[in-house]
Amino acid sequence: MFVVPPPPANEAERLDFLLSCGILDTPQDERFDRLTRIASRVYGADVAFLSFVDDRYQWMKAITGDGIGSSIEREQSVCQIMIASGEPLVFGDMQKEPTLDGHPVVPLLPFHFYAGVPLLTPEGAAVGSFCILKREPQDAAGFDVSTLIDLAAVSMDEVELWQRNQDLERVAQTDGLTGIANRRVFDQALERAVRRGRRTNEPLSLLLLDLDHFKALNDTAGHQAGDNVLRQFAGILAQAARRPDDVVARYGGEEFALILPSTDQHGALEVAERLRENLAAAQIPHPRGIDGLVTVSMGAVAADPANKLSAERLVSAADARLYEAKKSGRNRAVVGSFP
Ligand code: GH3
Ligand code: MG
Ligand code: MG
Repeated sequence: MFVVPPPPANEAERLDFLLSCGILDTPQDERFDRLTRIASRVYGADVAFLSFVDDRYQWMKAITGDGIGSSIEREQSVCQIMIASGEPLVFGDMQKEPTLDGHPVVPLLPFHFYAGVPLLTPEGAAVGSFCILKREPQDAAGFDVSTLIDLAAVSMDEVELWQRNQDLERVAQTDGLTGIANRRVFDQALERAVRRGRRTNEPLSLLLLDLDHFKALNDTAGHQAGDNVLRQFAGILAQAARRPDDVVARYGGEEFALILPSTDQHGALEVAERLRENLAAAQIPHPRGIDGLVTVSMGAVAADPANKLSAERLVSAADARLYEAKKSGRNRAVVGSFP
């Protein structure tokens, strides 16, 4: 009689791993497809698949062959037995297997032979399975799972590489001090926004921001206090940009940038004012600042896409407005149209 096995002792570690590596729900990937193809060929299987099993579902990451779906409830899967045991599993004939008697799905499958091994993390948590299925029964006793074990290990190496690439990508895009996007992301995002503006014929605004008298803050309060102010300011900036397409970035040093797609001059001014108000409300002390507080100067341009838009020209136009804001007393926004 089939009994749903209880979750393993390391269920929490399993789920942590799956959650943190972010592999669930990712698109089909040749790196995994080729492994199930190899398994199918080596074993002469009708189906080979690689899956991950979270708290509720078994997700097929790669399938070679027909006859199984892309996901199934964990409680209805056969592989859950391996998730619970952490051991390979072979059924010469699933349809006649006493421990699968009464299983909700097995009688509906066109398969008899099943062989699988768990995907194991370096800590030994079973997070998924690598399996083959055959339409005909086969002797379980003589079956050699060693190739499946190797392929499962290669799969987990791929998962680890995939995860490291994700981490590297995140690091490469993030400013280490403030946690917001860095200059590289800004450059790419602005190019993209310019292209989009040209295509959609929608306006595009760019704000450049430069903290006032920042050198004096470092000189009086110390470099570390300066760093803390940069972090605080980045947080305030991120809150001022509310639309999902807005991009907030550290442009360099104590200079920041805000890309506002589909935003005209009126909208840019609104964001700039909101930002100034939020910064004033935060009351960040600055020994030699205006009224003893950290303030910011902003230069913004709203571009009409009909004009010859380019990222470079947009930045230099916003920079010119920023210079005006500095020259005319700081702690203000100068917003204009482009060019
Ligand atoms: P202004 O009002 O004209 O902008 O004056 P300012 O002093 O802010 O202008 P300036 O560009 O001359 O000075 C910028 C200073 O920002 C110089 C540098 O020491 C400081 N700075 C740049 N990057 C960092 C950083 O990562 N941390 C800290 N603490 N300071 C930084
Ligand atoms: Mg500066
Ligand atoms: Mg400055």
